[in-house]
Amino acid sequence: MIHTDTSHKPSRIIILGSGTSTGVPVIGCDCQVCRSTDPRDKRMRASALVEVDGQRLLIDCGPDFRRQFLDIAPLRPDAILLTHIHYDHVGGIDDLRPLTFPDPLSIYCRPDLAEALRRTMPYCFGSNLYPGVPQIRLVEIDPTRQFLVGSTPVIPLPVMHHDLPIIGFRIGNFAYITDAKTVPPSTMSLLHGVDTIVVNALRLTPHHSHFSLSEAMNFISAVNPRRAFLTHISHQMPSHACLSAILPPGVFPAADGLVITP
Ligand SMILES: [Zn+2]
Ligand SMILES: [Zn+2]
Ligand SMILES: [Zn+2]
Repeated sequence: MIHTDTSHKPSRIIILGSGTSTGVPVIGCDCQVCRSTDPRDKRMRASALVEVDGQRLLIDCGPDFRRQFLDIAPLRPDAILLTHIHYDHVGGIDDLRPLTFPDPLSIYCRPDLAEALRRTMPYCFGSNLYPGVPQIRLVEIDPTRQFLVGSTPVIPLPVMHHDLPIIGFRIGNFAYITDAKTVPPSTMSLLHGVDTIVVNALRLTPHHSHFSLSEAMNFISAVNPRRAFLTHISHQMPSHACLSAILPPGVFPAADGLVITP
């Protein structure tokens, strides 16, 4: 049983990306959502920056990482937490390069994810490093145990992404879960007392590896936070304005650039 220490509360969370793996609009699509002129319907790949205890923790580093950090310059991450190996969550790691000198950046992830990164980016993690590659320290965490980033306790939240075991994160009274399809009871018990949660909701119809809207709503009801924000949204979800109109009080669609404060 992990003791849920809620004294380290985030002071601010910035949603950097709220879209699914394709982003929204989808290249080549002319559906109503993809043609929307509402800036809230422009969704980069899912990622968030959590400010806590005077440091900034980046959750996921997808292919829009560079654009996202140019948009919020001069903010920069002090450490990175990864949920899983899919490209929409790790595709920006090479772009960390300018932020890894002179001090290396640490990436906290499951051992299988660290192994996959060493395999897919051998020039960054091998014994004979290519000159100028990003200086990244892979910190392998036990997904069943709380770990520290600086002085901040972070609780991994194991969930299933179809048949792939992945993790979300609880930091104080805030929780972030993306790409979940099923959440085991042991993880539900780690969510007691969560005030604010960000959780994935792909679209209205069921999908084999992601929560649909109704599955996300059932999960949110079970957690019962004060407020919930939906992320990893596809173009098959209604537009931001239409989705906002059908959600119950306390549940909101996330949007790129959304700042969540206590
Ligand atoms: Zn994803
Ligand atoms: Zn579309
Ligand atoms: Zn995924």
